[in-house]
Amino acid sequence: MSEHPVEKTDEQWRAELTPQEFRVLRRAGTEAPFTGEFTDHFAEGVYSCRACGAELFRSRTKFASHCGWPSFYSPLAADRVRHLSDTSIPGRPRTEVRCASCGSHLGHVFEGEGYDTPTDQRYCINSVCLDFTSSRED
Ligand code: FE
Repeated sequence: MSEHPVEKTDEQWRAELTPQEFRVLRRAGTEAPFTGEFTDHFAEGVYSCRACGAELFRSRTKFASHCGWPSFYSPLAADRVRHLSDTSIPGRPRTEVRCASCGSHLGHVFEGEGYDTPTDQRYCINSVCLDFTSSRED
């Protein structure tokens, strides 16, 4: 059994994704702050993985963090994302967030920052990793 339900080679991902999408999703890159299409986007709907289409976040958990990237206080369901230890920056351990379905990098999650949200967590997600589908939420 493979690690993720959706497994593709780099060659396949390169063919399906733009160079920037590939760099962020498949190479754990980061889009420049305040440049992503969903940073200040607050329409009602669902955000899915741009690589595999899995539904990841709901608009009702999106909040204005003013950090420069789309911010959510929780994933759509706990099993939609995976958390990995990221020690790529010395002295600044972080928790990486990946799509549980295809393993693509989405961003990082930070907690205890004092945002007035139900979880005190900030899923800091690159816009380029997401697609948005408008829908009414209950
Ligand atoms: Fe995915």
